[in-house]
Amino acid sequence: MSTNHNGEFFYPSEELKSKLHVKNYDEIYQYAAEHPESFWSVIASELSWFKPWDKVLEWEYPFARWFVGGKTNIAYNALDRHVNTWRRNKLALIWEGENAEVRTYTYLQLQREVNRFANVLKAMGVQKGDRVSIYLPRIPEQMIAMLAAAKIGAIHTLVYAGFSVEALRDRINDAESKIVVTADGGFYNGKVVPLKNIVDEAVSKCPSIISVIVVKRTGADVDMTPGRDLWYHELMALPIASPKCDAEEMDATDPLFILYTSGTTGKPKGVVHSHGGYMVGTYITTKWVFDMKEEDTHWCTADSGWVTGHSYVVYGPLLNGATTVMYEGAPTYPLPDRWWSIVERHNVTIFYTAPTAIRSLMRYGSSWVNRRDLSTLRILGSVGEPINPEAWLWFYKIIGQERCPIMDTWWQTETGMHIITPLPCTPLKPGSASKPFPGIVVDVVDEEGESVKPGEEGFLVIKTPWPAMLQTVYKDPERYKQQYWSRFPGVYFAGDSAKKDEDGYIWIIGRVDDVIKVAGYRLGTAEIESALVSHPAVAEAAAIGKPDPLKGNIIKVFVILKFGYEPSEKLAQELKNHVGHELGPIAKPAEIQFVESLPKTRSGKIMRRVLRAQELGQPVGDLSTLEE
Ligand code: ATP
Ligand code: MG
Repeated sequence: MSTNHNGEFFYPSEELKSKLHVKNYDEIYQYAAEHPESFWSVIASELSWFKPWDKVLEWEYPFARWFVGGKTNIAYNALDRHVNTWRRNKLALIWEGENAEVRTYTYLQLQREVNRFANVLKAMGVQKGDRVSIYLPRIPEQMIAMLAAAKIGAIHTLVYAGFSVEALRDRINDAESKIVVTADGGFYNGKVVPLKNIVDEAVSKCPSIISVIVVKRTGADVDMTPGRDLWYHELMALPIASPKCDAEEMDATDPLFILYTSGTTGKPKGVVHSHGGYMVGTYITTKWVFDMKEEDTHWCTADSGWVTGHSYVVYGPLLNGATTVMYEGAPTYPLPDRWWSIVERHNVTIFYTAPTAIRSLMRYGSSWVNRRDLSTLRILGSVGEPINPEAWLWFYKIIGQERCPIMDTWWQTETGMHIITPLPCTPLKPGSASKPFPGIVVDVVDEEGESVKPGEEGFLVIKTPWPAMLQTVYKDPERYKQQYWSRFPGVYFAGDSAKKDEDGYIWIIGRVDDVIKVAGYRLGTAEIESALVSHPAVAEAAAIGKPDPLKGNIIKVFVILKFGYEPSEKLAQELKNHVGHELGPIAKPAEIQFVESLPKTRSGKIMRRVLRAQELGQPVGDLSTLEE
């Protein structure tokens, strides 16, 4: 099957359903829609507050302030709240290095490390509201540095380790950070990824930086600039690094972090999130979407350089008191079953990843999966792009063994938390993120902002504020208004196009900028690509529109073949016919180019604007987030 927009339903088993936190979506959705403030305040009350809020929501369009007057601290809720209970001896983090090293931290151990680093930061002069840049590989210190900053009220701003000098420098300068925390390198795909030299070059033009803190990970030789660079382990051995540190009492609306978007559609935006609302949103989505329970071991494969890592590696699981897994390296190192061996060895119960990863692992076939025992898995998740039904079914059958529902979660850096997503009780349609999370109101609208009819394509909007909503674009409230609130007055414009089907299920069909108009028809990139991937020879595909005097546009597709298939004229023709057959003649690509790789952001999203610009010989724009 490929893109059947009404499709067959996949139902959770009665056994799974009987034990879920949420057994009836409609009931809760309706309650939340009728009483949004009481809905969100009941959820917020499950967390700890130094002082309760006076007002659930202050909506000064387009700026939302949640839990106004309330005092809390997200790090207190992620750690101290559990350490004050029996959970102090429960595992908070299981970390595995690419070199097979394993480190584990109980809640108490993690809290102590965080407190020690929080005290180090304080001693170095970092104060509430100051920015701390974090440019670290996926090692425990990444999480420790985030939580330490949060604990003292500093604002963390992560930059994916692997970004170039310029990308790092721009982000440090935009945030005007005082400190950057980095490492002597990280292990990825059998190689040492150097980081320190990139930091050195970047900070040579970052006037706000007073100090560079370096974690020893690989033992590689690095230059240490006297007076500026300090070893993390040496600082942590000083008497100032006491394991006791009280959490700073933060206003719910105080900023927690700045994170730059993936840059799929253009220059990244510095998205600002708060302690209170963001905490409530990530807490409850983790709990309900993944049905997180006390005994769960949660593995989200994302890097914390992306919002997915912030919300669903670090904050969501820890706020719920679960065990979170972090893996440093490449999915296929040393062999293509590395991920499945991690699931097996650490008894992972919830597994959350991205379509791009699923498609690339599918290329190796199922035998690598079948040698592993994945019977602990209970819930699967997908995020980052529309998941094509082909990949969905492989994930469902081969990884989940038809036992584990797949939560296809649509959300953004800006939304902070899942927005459109199934819950495990939701009947699933492969390729649809299904329905909005309770308390969230979305719609698909036309150019005039009117709801479109079922089956028609339109713009995805969010109609009411939600707790983890971005507060602004850092230092640029005008861009915030312009980008999200100007296209359709009164509602949040997400930048994605979508359809709603007869059952009210939402299908994301691509970026608004990527929609291809052919002879008056509008076609989603996701539909065309998904049709291609449903052909046995195709591993990945990207579709773009190319101006054509007659048709307005023609469709050009770039195709990566599965191992064992060779490019040929015949195959190209076969693929064109296949798309025509699946979607109708209008969607038939005019041109096919076989390629070895596609331009992607480092978070794995296809950058169609780059393909389009290259094809048309135009400037490619901001490339700071392009993968090597
Ligand atoms: P920029 O805004 O700078 O172009 P970006 O939008 O890629 O970057 P993110 O915030 O990381 O940055 O990505 C959010 C986007 O990812 C969504 O707007 C959507 O296009 C896509 N996306 C995420 N999850 C899903 C999903 N489950 N289904 C479909 N699309 C998804
Ligand atoms: Mg975006």
